[in-house]
Amino acid sequence: MSNKPLKFDTIKIRGGYNSEDHNHSVSVPIYETAAFDIGGTKRAKKLFSFSEPGFIYSRLSNPTVEILEKRVSALDGAAGAIALSSGMAAITYTLLNIAEDGGRILTTPYLYGGTLDGFKKIYPKFGIKIDKFGDINNPEALAKQIKPDTKAIFVETISNPNAVVADIENIAKVAHEHDIPLIVDNTLATPYLLNPIKYGADIVVYSATKALNGHGNVIAGLILESGKFNWANGKFPQFLEPYYTLRDSNDKPRNFLETFPEFPFTTRIRMNYLNYFGAALSPFDAYLVLLGLETLSERIEKQLSNTKKVISYLQENDNVQWIKYPSLSTSPYKKLSEKYLPKGSGSVFSFGINGTDSEIDEFLDSIKLFSYHTNIGDSRSLIVNSPKTTHGELTPEEKELSDIPYNTIRLSIGLEDPEDLIDDLDQAFEKTFSKKLEKAIK
Ligand SMILES: *Cc1c(COP(=O)(O)O)cnc(C)c1O
Repeated sequence: MSNKPLKFDTIKIRGGYNSEDHNHSVSVPIYETAAFDIGGTKRAKKLFSFSEPGFIYSRLSNPTVEILEKRVSALDGAAGAIALSSGMAAITYTLLNIAEDGGRILTTPYLYGGTLDGFKKIYPKFGIKIDKFGDINNPEALAKQIKPDTKAIFVETISNPNAVVADIENIAKVAHEHDIPLIVDNTLATPYLLNPIKYGADIVVYSATKALNGHGNVIAGLILESGKFNWANGKFPQFLEPYYTLRDSNDKPRNFLETFPEFPFTTRIRMNYLNYFGAALSPFDAYLVLLGLETLSERIEKQLSNTKKVISYLQENDNVQWIKYPSLSTSPYKKLSEKYLPKGSGSVFSFGINGTDSEIDEFLDSIKLFSYHTNIGDSRSLIVNSPKTTHGELTPEEKELSDIPYNTIRLSIGLEDPEDLIDDLDQAFEKTFSKKLEKAIK
């Protein structure tokens, strides 16, 4: 074999795994164990002073979970990664690791509902203030929002549910001019459609619950770091704080930057937040995500093709008031989607129904095939009325700011036959509005 770097589709199946290290097991084994034998006092000394890598206790690290971390890290071109028990844990540990002594996070109103709620209800209680700014793709205006105690910018690369595309390269420039990192939630895009680190993002978070796993049967999250951000720039003293637990062989306390120079961010999360707050991913759940990852590209390609067909159907439908999908000619994000999402803009999008609240309820109750629930990125197609469910916590003013009108329906397109999906929407529209609709299927 040549020394050429492996391509995406090879990494998603083989990355981070060497069968010789695991009894030649072809499939990644599930290491369902709480702890690992230390194997003698000499090895104990090496393990506990980090001079030899190894596993001690599965809350901190586990071989199955580590293969997942290495595989996603390779897919994203990251320097380090940590897997956690949910996407929310990934976001929370990331922001606490950056702003644990207080400060501000600059973000947008275009976020996953759980993130928006957490920002409103929980973070201020930890001394972390959240500034929401809508015009994120305007670098001059964005720069003016950065205050002396702003610690990071946080955006979704493609937002949930409205598919707002962030101009990552320009946002990263603004962040770096102010010595702060850009954190992106790349859940909707996945590393198959977009590699944020390539455009300057410093930290990437995922809800692996969604398309990375892709089968709607696990809750999991990941944090990746580019390894390029300078945490010693004076704004983040926590990375320079010496810890006795990080002592060298002469018992001299060290800090995270000295001890783990390649991936200080995720290691600090592992040793502080995962260790003491404990949102560990189970080996079995890591295995399920690894299994899902093996078909990531194939699933997304089919979902993109299905999404295109469903959108063409909706475009021809009189009961549809608007469709928000970045690659449509009507979208303000068309140009950005061409730059950042050349393979396609994903399979989660929203549309507005031309109808009253009760007609929308009737439409949803008439749906037979789409599952009516709040998840996304599943192999099954899903439908939900975001303003009453996923984004139901937002006040009317907040919904307006986040651009989620009352008639918003969010679809996550799965892997079924597209004709069945269109037929299902069609019969629900027909039942609700009793109009004959032209089918857009050719
Ligand atoms: C679902 C989701 C999350 C939260 O992830 P969980 O795994 O459900 O905790 C965060 N961000 C986005 C964009 C999501 O869609």
